[in-house]
Amino acid sequence: MEQVFASIITIGDELLIGQVVDTNSAWMAQELNKAGIWLKRRVAVGDDKHEIINALEAQAQDTQIILMTGGLGPTADDITKPVLADYFGGKLVVHQPTLQHLHHLFENIYRRPLTDRNLKQAELPDVCTVLPNLRGSAPGMWFEKEGRIYISLPGVPHEMKGLMTAEVLPRLQKHFTMPHIAHRTMLTAGIGESFLADVIQEWEQQLPAHLKLAYLPNYGMVRLRITGSGSDKDQLEQELDEQFARLKVLAKQWMVIDEDLPLHEVVGRRLKEQGKTMATAESCTGGYIAHLITSVPGSSAYYKGSVISYANEVKENLLSVSPATLAATGAVSEDTVQQMVQGALSSLHTDYALATSGIMGPDGGSAEKPVGMVWIAVGNREKIVTQQFNFRFDRMRNIELTANHSLNLLRKFIEEHG
Ligand code: ATP
Ligand code: MG
Repeated sequence: MEQVFASIITIGDELLIGQVVDTNSAWMAQELNKAGIWLKRRVAVGDDKHEIINALEAQAQDTQIILMTGGLGPTADDITKPVLADYFGGKLVVHQPTLQHLHHLFENIYRRPLTDRNLKQAELPDVCTVLPNLRGSAPGMWFEKEGRIYISLPGVPHEMKGLMTAEVLPRLQKHFTMPHIAHRTMLTAGIGESFLADVIQEWEQQLPAHLKLAYLPNYGMVRLRITGSGSDKDQLEQELDEQFARLKVLAKQWMVIDEDLPLHEVVGRRLKEQGKTMATAESCTGGYIAHLITSVPGSSAYYKGSVISYANEVKENLLSVSPATLAATGAVSEDTVQQMVQGALSSLHTDYALATSGIMGPDGGSAEKPVGMVWIAVGNREKIVTQQFNFRFDRMRNIELTANHSLNLLRKFIEEHG
């Protein structure tokens, strides 16, 4: 068994100037990690011959796998392909299967004329293994040189992912004998990272070296992930199970779920288990919670809809919040969110509802109700629970925090009152 190191070079001027955010290398790093390949470095370079060659040479010093994405599109600014052909001592020649694939794509799927520019995509270095791209026009390329593997993939994330899954990872796993890698993940809420670290300190210290713990905080939640590596799969899985069981006891009070699942999916799962439905009445989150919930396939089984009651008028007319309450306590108040939950339950006919109302900033705060003040209510026909928060961040973060805290409050409510 060998420890295999990889590096990723992302290519594109648009990445350097920040016009496009590099999401490829983050996704690739996760997939490589799952496959037991250690990532040593991620670098970004522009569409520039010398920069690409320098990066290749630098990464070849200490990594056996060098992955590149980008720079394979049909326009002139993309120069990766000729640079690679040259670097590996080959020349560009028409690759017949790719040419046929391009004809098929343009004639049957895109239904557009195949231009000379597109045809150039079938010209590939004669010193590589071509990795067919079923999701697009530019194929991937696999080169081998002095015991190292160089892989060039298109920059389009969807195409890169298809190629990684179908071609690159299986080929790498065949090429190297890699350790088995496995993970255990839990989601916690209601406890900060450093407090959690104190609670599990002793357990963490006794972890053997081949099991590593990661804290992954995200808007009021912390995911804990143990990653293990070893040559014996069964032994590793058993060790992880044992350690995870001990961690679950220690973190019991804060554990939301012992899986790698976002909170809105946990809520969905609990509702499905009970065969119940929910609705949202969103003021300050403006439909963001509805978006999170409906981004999960199958959410129609438990989610009915939302009233985005941003204006008081909508709170009154669609959720029957009393004008007297709004006049006396304001929109950001316990009474208002309680009435919003009642209004959502009766107008959307669901078992549960949640409501949010707050001041997200940067303006609109006062001494009495500062920016970041949020009221949340969750409940059913029998009972409504409310909670007030004071967040201190920018508008987007305040919205995300409100969403997570409301979903967590609802999750607890469903677990206790379902
Ligand atoms: P052309 O400029 O010739 O049309 P291209 O630059 O579009 O080609 P690629 O460089 O393969 O071709 O990139 C394709 C698309 O993928 C572009 O929209 C690019 O911005 C995007 N992209 C490239 N690299 C990344 C990356 N690391 N993360 C996310 N998106 C990326
Ligand atoms: Mg590009």
